[in-house]
Amino acid sequence: MICKVCQTDIKPKLLFKNKGSFGNIHRCPECKVAFVFPQPTDEVLNTYYNGMYSDLTVSFDEKKMTWAAHSMQGYLDVLKKLRISPDSTTTFLDLGGGLGYYSKAAASHDLHAILVEKDPVSVQFAKEHLQLENIIEKDLSEFFSTNKERYDIVFFRHVIEHVTDPTAVMEGISNIVKPNGLLIIETDNNAGIELLIKGGVRKFYLDLYKKNFQNVSFLNLLFKRPFAVDPPRHLFGFRMNNLAGLLESNNLKPKEKVHYRLGHPVYWPNIPSPKAKNIIKSILKLRIRKALALSVSYANLLFRKLLQALGLSSGICIYAQKQPK
Ligand SMILES: [Zn+2]
Repeated sequence: MICKVCQTDIKPKLLFKNKGSFGNIHRCPECKVAFVFPQPTDEVLNTYYNGMYSDLTVSFDEKKMTWAAHSMQGYLDVLKKLRISPDSTTTFLDLGGGLGYYSKAAASHDLHAILVEKDPVSVQFAKEHLQLENIIEKDLSEFFSTNKERYDIVFFRHVIEHVTDPTAVMEGISNIVKPNGLLIIETDNNAGIELLIKGGVRKFYLDLYKKNFQNVSFLNLLFKRPFAVDPPRHLFGFRMNNLAGLLESNNLKPKEKVHYRLGHPVYWPNIPSPKAKNIIKSILKLRIRKALALSVSYANLLFRKLLQALGLSSGICIYAQKQPK
């Protein structure tokens, strides 16, 4: 079997066998990417994605907009550090951008934002509720095969783990980034163990893997680290090295690599983090139980910050520059 990330001929290592649902989780012994094999059929994937929002009436969420705007400021700060100064002529392609909150945030920062999304319900939402003007309703392969434009910034946030062939997708992306243009790519960290450290998140993943795979326990997850492969949703689990390798082999040179934790103010703002000042406030008001509870979650945060520094937190982001040929 040829690894769809490092292109080596491999004997994959079985991590978890399924309980009759959507394929087993394996790891490439060369590049360490975790992946689903056999992959779900096109029919299964189409059913999964077409049904995603169709039953829901999606309404505008002020909080999601605020988080996206906040994150966008963080991305722009990194651009400044990389000496890239975007302006209103800078094209920002939000590839597989879902409902379009990040496109909207980019447009609010005066970038020329373009949303590419295949789901008609999401596209409708982006038009109606976010008033996005530039929307291309296509899936990735259709977009790559018909598009003739090149873009200054391609934004690919939490999409790569969903695709069936990461190499083909990265070739497509490399072709549409302008020379010296930038790819911002984010995904879950397959090397991470932070998901097992934070209470509610740990329960979610334990239940998820127990439901779909055999012989799942906390220790097994800790040692084998399948994160966050979850068919038919997530088919690949990357870590910093193999993602950077995939980019480099497609002429995209990593300029900035970020490990981030749950609740990171830029990359994961929708989970609030405990604050030390609230512990002090509780102590001053003699609310000892509350102070203790806050102290425990604050200690948990400090430990997760340590994991982040060690590259073992939940998310990764790479800013990569297209090399002129
Ligand atoms: Zn590999």
